[in-house]
Amino acid sequence: MKLAKGNVKIGIETRFGPNWPGQRCLAKTRRGTNCQRAAFKHNGCCAMHGGLSTGALTPEGLQRISEANLKHGRQTKAKLEAQRHAAMVGRRVMGELRRLEQQILDAGLMPDD
Ligand SMILES: [Zn+2]
Repeated sequence: MKLAKGNVKIGIETRFGPNWPGQRCLAKTRRGTNCQRAAFKHNGCCAMHGGLSTGALTPEGLQRISEANLKHGRQTKAKLEAQRHAAMVGRRVMGELRRLEQQILDAGLMPDD
């Protein structure tokens, strides 16, 4: 291929290379040198050194993750609270029944067996 029309010079000031004007990643590589890949604007790191995800930040995102990880809902806060409430009601009813039975026994209205 013949180099024509100054192809070598076109865009040389913005071409990626030693004199590239953009921001570089500069993370420490395994060689101990700085990473020279182009950095993202949002975090200043390249795709290889971007670090861990920050996770969901919006309430909608958190809700979506919560729903994605929910399997059956048996252990959700609302379910556990409902179970606790039902157990408390059951204990109260059983206590009332025992009290009534004792009153009936004490009044001699029911055979004691
Ligand atoms: Zn990098």
